[in-house]
Amino acid sequence: MDLVELVDSSHATGDVKLLRAKDELRAALAPVRREGSSIGLVPTMGFLHEGHLSLLRAARAECDLVVMSLFVNPAQFGPGEDLDRYPRDEERDLQLAAEAGAGIVYAPPVEAVYPEDFATQVEVGLTDVLDGDPARRGPGHFRGVTTVVVKLFNTVGPDVAYFGQKDAQQVAVIRRMVRDLDIPVRIQVLPTVREPDGLAMSSRNAYLDPRDRERATALSRALHVAEATARAEGLAAGIEAARAELRAAGVEPEYLEARDAENLNPVAELTGRPVLVAVAAQVGGARLIDNVLIQP
Ligand code: AMP
Repeated sequence: MDLVELVDSSHATGDVKLLRAKDELRAALAPVRREGSSIGLVPTMGFLHEGHLSLLRAARAECDLVVMSLFVNPAQFGPGEDLDRYPRDEERDLQLAAEAGAGIVYAPPVEAVYPEDFATQVEVGLTDVLDGDPARRGPGHFRGVTTVVVKLFNTVGPDVAYFGQKDAQQVAVIRRMVRDLDIPVRIQVLPTVREPDGLAMSSRNAYLDPRDRERATALSRALHVAEATARAEGLAAGIEAARAELRAAGVEPEYLEARDAENLNPVAELTGRPVLVAVAAQVGGARLIDNVLIQP
């Protein structure tokens, strides 16, 4: 496929090139960049749902060529987490990525990303709270994320990279990393895509049995109540109301916290800055996270 075809096909819908080698990817992208075409990157771990597709569609609307990475990144899974059972369906992902406008899917093997003598970690601040709290997933999770994202940025050299607000802490950490390290990429964040009953879409929702799937709706309900109550009666009342909503559904949160959306400092009141209310909870077989951004 030559350069013009590659750029055109990302707009023609349906034609996607699967690449597994870094050198092949670089070779495919060099002429695209030389020609002045823009490149959008959508990093994913696959098992695509509408959340991923919303990122791909946004990238397609704004960039000449969309690269989707498909890599279940072992470095961001802790011991005892779900790396081995993480759902995978590459064929379906390719089909959906093509339909949503990806021109290239980059799916490298683990050994190529982390050769045996791999010895570098990218560590950003903001990673020891919420999910990064050592008593929870821990900062190692975000080290895994930021390390692989930097590698993807360096391999693809995107003009714009797309992330979902669903992973609010990841967004804050990546924005800070890009700023602190002067990485020449624009970070574009898209709203959380939800099921009709409010549950935030996630590849991990596949772990929920029907009963837990029903209980899981408590997270989005709680966040909704948190925002409405916080606006009417203050943030502390909002958090308390959310806690009650979770309790009524028999969901014990791992955390439910209000923090400044950008620097993740704890906040006690709604101020002039966006406030993140974030929740994590184990519901049956799935550890779920969700959040609401309360805009001033
Ligand atoms: P993952 O495959 O879970 O690593 O997610 C890949 C990207 O999709 C990340 O930027 C996520 O934040 C984003 N994403 C995951 N779920 C959703 C969702 N429900 N709505 C919007 N974006 C999402």
